[in-house]
Amino acid sequence: MQKFNGIEIIGAGLAGCEAANQISKRGINVRLYEMKPKKFSAAHTSPNFSELVCSNSLKSNDPEKAAGILKNEMLRLDSLILESALKFQVSAGGALAVDREEFSNYITKKINKNPLIEVISEEFSEIPIDIEKPLIISSGPLTSESLSNSIEKFCGTDSLSFYDSISPIILYDSLDSKSFFRASRYEEKQADYINCPLSEIEYKKFIAELIASDKTEFHSFEKIKYFESCLPIEVMASRGEDTLRFGPMKPVGLIDPKTQRRPYAVIQLRKENENESMWNIVGFQTKMKINEQKRVFGIIPALKKAEFLRFGSIHRNTYLNSPGILKNTLQTVKNPNVFIAGQLTGVEGYTESSAMGIVAGINASRVFNNHKPIEFPKTTAIGTLLNYLSENTDKELQPMNINLGLFNIEKPKKNINKIINNSKNGMEEIINIIK
Ligand SMILES: Cc1cc2nc3c(=O)[nH]c(=O)nc-3n(C[C@H](O)[C@H](O)[C@H](O)COP(=O)(O)OP(=O)(O)OC[C@H]3O[C@@H](n4cnc5c(N)ncnc54)[C@H](O)[C@@H]3O)c2cc1C
Repeated sequence: MQKFNGIEIIGAGLAGCEAANQISKRGINVRLYEMKPKKFSAAHTSPNFSELVCSNSLKSNDPEKAAGILKNEMLRLDSLILESALKFQVSAGGALAVDREEFSNYITKKINKNPLIEVISEEFSEIPIDIEKPLIISSGPLTSESLSNSIEKFCGTDSLSFYDSISPIILYDSLDSKSFFRASRYEEKQADYINCPLSEIEYKKFIAELIASDKTEFHSFEKIKYFESCLPIEVMASRGEDTLRFGPMKPVGLIDPKTQRRPYAVIQLRKENENESMWNIVGFQTKMKINEQKRVFGIIPALKKAEFLRFGSIHRNTYLNSPGILKNTLQTVKNPNVFIAGQLTGVEGYTESSAMGIVAGINASRVFNNHKPIEFPKTTAIGTLLNYLSENTDKELQPMNINLGLFNIEKPKKNINKIINNSKNGMEEIINIIK
């Protein structure tokens, strides 16, 4: 298998197709392994490549939103996914939504017709021991079991996570500063947390709305019992009115400076980045629908006008605990010939996964041609995602979608023009290197 003089890719999803396109554009042969239609994951149903398994939206197209900035960078790199999305766009306000059948058909035909790409309709089960040419693993959030085992063997025990259990992330600028106080439990001087105090009336209203809210159902392949150790807040709330007050909303060790008393309940926010633009709500993983999250969390005075950079969720998702395992070039630390791409890297979403396919394709081609792989500047949207994945922290990686908080610029919404210009300049540098 390894005698093939080209680059092998596992998975013809969004990332795999982007990578194949980038590599073939550079005149290099590709072998693209796709287990469909012989074997389908629990969510895939179409034999076509780049299947959109759920929503048909690739999020905002607005050039002043983070998702729009990312798209503009991908367009500069000739994204195949966006080429198809723009051809088969359906109207959806400011979002780039597509006719999913036409979208996947176009990509499948383009890949199948490409003389440099050989599609092999087989499951790829085992990462070979001796890898002499680049191999890109882009088998997605529902990677087959045998390959998942092999990835764990290759990257190390516990290197893979199988569920997202994520709390919402809020933009600091959107918090009501009069309605929270900074403090750490039992610490007078440490002010690491944002604490949003609730009165008894506010707490009871919040619990009632939480229980009554509209939730997303689990898919049949998502076993609910798995989440006992990491329950959605609404499930905790339904076990008794005080459960949350003795759990993630416990007020112990905290005194509200306004009242000089311990609040009835507290919601804590923990910082996500050093410049403190992004804050996650501690222990608030939830299956509430997105609009319901906005409505129910809006009951909390400090979050009245909160802007969500990421919504809470719990779903099946295979991804790498990338820091320390993956470099910002998408090469694995263990073997620079092995690349990880797509959602498996720890990014979240169609567009982000596609972007990670483009990067893996460009860098695998460069390694194949004995050139140094590219490190995207942290001022680009792509660079912020790569930095998030590869930055060495002791925190467990939580999957991340693109958002303004990642750009590490104070007051990102006010400084949007600066972010856009930095992205343009950063991409200019990249284009100059790869042209
Ligand atoms: C249930 C569910 C719902 C989702 N809903 C949304 C949503 O609404 N919006 C959004 O932005 N994102 C959503 N996502 C995430 C989305 O699926 C990913 O962002 C995106 O599809 C990832 O692209 P990818 O190329 O990494 O993986 P995929 O697009 O999943 O592609 C991976 C490919 O690899 C193949 N494969 C797997 N294992 C093997 C193997 N061993 N050998 C050969 N081939 C293999 C698969 O058949 C598949 O074709 C959802 C994910 C899931 C699981």
